[in-house]
Amino acid sequence: MEKKNIDWANLGFGYMKTDYRYVSNYTDGKWDDGAITTDDMITMSECACVLQYAQTIFEGMKAYTTQDGKTVVFRPDLNASRLVDSAKRLEMPPFPEERFLDAIDQLVRANKEWVPPFGSGASLYIRPYMFGINPVIGVKPATDYQFRAFATPVGPYFKGGVKPLTIKISDFDRAAPNGTGHIKAGLNYAMSLHAIVTAHAEGYDENMYLDSATRTKVEETGGANFLFVTKDGKIVTPKSNTILPSITRRSLIQVAKDYLGIEAEEREVYVDELKDMAECGLCGTAAVISPVGKIVDHGKEICLPSGMNAMGPITQKLYDTLTGIQMGRIEAPKGWIRVIE
Ligand SMILES: *Cc1c(COP(=O)(O)O)cnc(C)c1O
Repeated sequence: MEKKNIDWANLGFGYMKTDYRYVSNYTDGKWDDGAITTDDMITMSECACVLQYAQTIFEGMKAYTTQDGKTVVFRPDLNASRLVDSAKRLEMPPFPEERFLDAIDQLVRANKEWVPPFGSGASLYIRPYMFGINPVIGVKPATDYQFRAFATPVGPYFKGGVKPLTIKISDFDRAAPNGTGHIKAGLNYAMSLHAIVTAHAEGYDENMYLDSATRTKVEETGGANFLFVTKDGKIVTPKSNTILPSITRRSLIQVAKDYLGIEAEEREVYVDELKDMAECGLCGTAAVISPVGKIVDHGKEICLPSGMNAMGPITQKLYDTLTGIQMGRIEAPKGWIRVIE
């Protein structure tokens, strides 16, 4: 199989139309068989529920080429179950988990020429999503849905080296108690756009959102969970039922404990504790971990001792171990790697 002729190492994070996508439709109370198609366009009613009331949820994951030439996907079973959780919260019919895994297999297999080669630092980003497609004007859930998954190659996240981020504590809220912060819904992103555009205009890379009830506890950024290293070398990650349970963060906690012998704890993290942290990183599929160098709390700068030039030592170990597992350099825990034959 020939790979596509792409300058993989210089790809950014953007949409590039690939050859195939997977589509399944839900009508009359059931999902159809689903199929791979070349058609990247969606035709729907002007009154589709997704357009009027944002009934849409999504997932994000990556396929890689490993050192020994296999095409693999990292823990797609967790994306499958998280999409089910998201669907239930928005009154959508869950897409069955085994169907999800089969859809990803078919999608990646069809687009194998688009999976970046080993060593390029690039990967194939996979975006499964589903949305209410029939006309809805009185507010209620749709009756018809579409599940889709497409793939697009994305470049190495740390092109030109690691640059720790400067983030600000936001005055906007991301999620409310008993709201939708814990599911991967498009609506959580729509309302974050103003906050991120504002933060960028002020010169920050990202927002740190606090719990909206007390504004004393750290939640997450718009699209990544926090992981902190304390000065005595322990890992701490915020516990909250209004953050999105990042698969990367959950994997890193297990890597810390089982591979590196580092104590790791999920607990409430107070803003007051930030000055005592040694390292801070943002965890998500896109970067695995992006180091944070500085947190600005209404003009007051909290500079992480790991500095503005490199990842902190524990963050680096976590990053190297998890990416080693993903790339097949380090043996993975059972069930973490799905090989696409
Ligand atoms: C997707 C997402 C993350 C990261 O989750 P991963 O499964 O690690 O990619 C974190 N926070 C939010 C709000 C997200 O939508």
